[in-house]
Amino acid sequence: MNVQTIHTGETTRGQSERRIRGRILEAIFERRLPPGEKLTEDRLGELFGVSRTVVRQALARLAQDGIVEQRPNRGAYVAAPSRAEARHVLAARAVVEPEVASAAACGCDRHGLERLHRHIAQENEVRVAEDRAALVRLTGEFHVVLAEVAGNPVFVRLLTELQALSSLSILLYARGERAACPPDEHGAIVDAIGRGDAEEAARLMRTHIAHVAADMDVSDPVERPEGLAQVLGVTPRRRPPR
Ligand SMILES: [Zn+2]
Repeated sequence: MNVQTIHTGETTRGQSERRIRGRILEAIFERRLPPGEKLTEDRLGELFGVSRTVVRQALARLAQDGIVEQRPNRGAYVAAPSRAEARHVLAARAVVEPEVASAAACGCDRHGLERLHRHIAQENEVRVAEDRAALVRLTGEFHVVLAEVAGNPVFVRLLTELQALSSLSILLYARGERAACPPDEHGAIVDAIGRGDAEEAARLMRTHIAHVAADMDVSDPVERPEGLAQVLGVTPRRRPPR
């Protein structure tokens, strides 16, 4: 085996692994793959035409990012974030994403801005067409595209992970029917970026994340020390002595 063969083999394997990860993330973004769904290695290998080793690597990487949960002797599952984990994700987004928007406003060139405008146009198209799955995916991806345009690969990795965990949290804890970012807010952020107004882009993003958080019920269920009596509105009676 020469060096070229080894190199080609590694590249193909890496590409397959990326493809599997990409498709799983896309399905999560579109809410087609719900939290808690089992991801069977054999089945994924069959579907993608790759070995179990490649599937296992893709799943291990997703597990590292908290998107897949690996249970000993039981296999891999799509993560189901708890309310506390969902709160942590929202808190992280509230800190990181205004910085990403600000960095995009500072460092975005003409191509980056065109890309953002194209993305907004796509969001509007699918919104008009009422293609809900595509809208949910695109509004989620907007946040990753912003990190790409900001030109910071660490932001891109972080946002990909946060966005996937957000999608899963929204599926579990959304208050209403709306399961995508509020309309028009992405457009306003891109306008601020286009003007090079970093402060305004950050402010708008902060507000946007607050709206996303307000659409979710991630508070812990209220403790009811009084128990069943309080819930049923009756006063507990003492048991008569035997
Ligand atoms: Zn958004």
